[in-house]
Amino acid sequence: MNLILLGPPGAGKGTHAQRLMNELGIPQISTGDALRQAVKAGTELGLSAKKYMEAGDLVPDELVIGIVEERLKAPDCQKGYILDGFPRTVKQAEALSRFAKIDVALNLSLADEVIIRRLSGRRVCLKCGGTYHISTLNGRDTCANCGEKLVQRKDDAPETIRNRLSVYAGQTAPLIDYYQQKGLLRTVDCDPDATVEETYDAVRKALDLA
Ligand code: ADP
Ligand code: ZN
Repeated sequence: MNLILLGPPGAGKGTHAQRLMNELGIPQISTGDALRQAVKAGTELGLSAKKYMEAGDLVPDELVIGIVEERLKAPDCQKGYILDGFPRTVKQAEALSRFAKIDVALNLSLADEVIIRRLSGRRVCLKCGGTYHISTLNGRDTCANCGEKLVQRKDDAPETIRNRLSVYAGQTAPLIDYYQQKGLLRTVDCDPDATVEETYDAVRKALDLA
């Protein structure tokens, strides 16, 4: 299955992508993780991307389209993949349609006030992409998967969160209509009070896995 996860920042795309990866045995491709690794490693891509990311703006289309096009050629993508955080503009979606055949675009929808609460308490692992919320960490500051020290992303600062939400509304939300018109859209209305397990069950149902 070639799957796209759509939805605002903090809707749980990364969390559910990791679960789907384990269940379906297909890779999660996160442009956000790839870009953060490039920034950390100080590559040319990382240097170009850094200022956009810290401001909560989108990195230019040309930079991310190339990453995804190359990644999808790898042998582990031949049985399917989960795109997490790409496409994020109509231009990216049009480019994607030239080198990939998408089966489903799953839209995780969530209210703005819930997003702000989630992102401001988020801690991430820059090594494996694991994400956590301070309310469930009980003071622990290392990754449960790989032991790396957890950090707060610079773009999870309150000012930047507001900008990311407006970027999402202006540039990414139009993809909901785009994939609806192609007949590929499925939506999960994420209940903010549900556990991750309960929401993942809704994700599985929407994908006909349940
Ligand atoms: P979130 O979904 O939590 O906002 P991501 O980890 O997906 O975060 O992305 C973090 C940042 O990386 C974005 O704010 C943006 O600057 C950049 N980025 C990631 N994916 C893309 C993309 N497809 N197009 C442009 N910029 C991207
Ligand atoms: Zn980790």
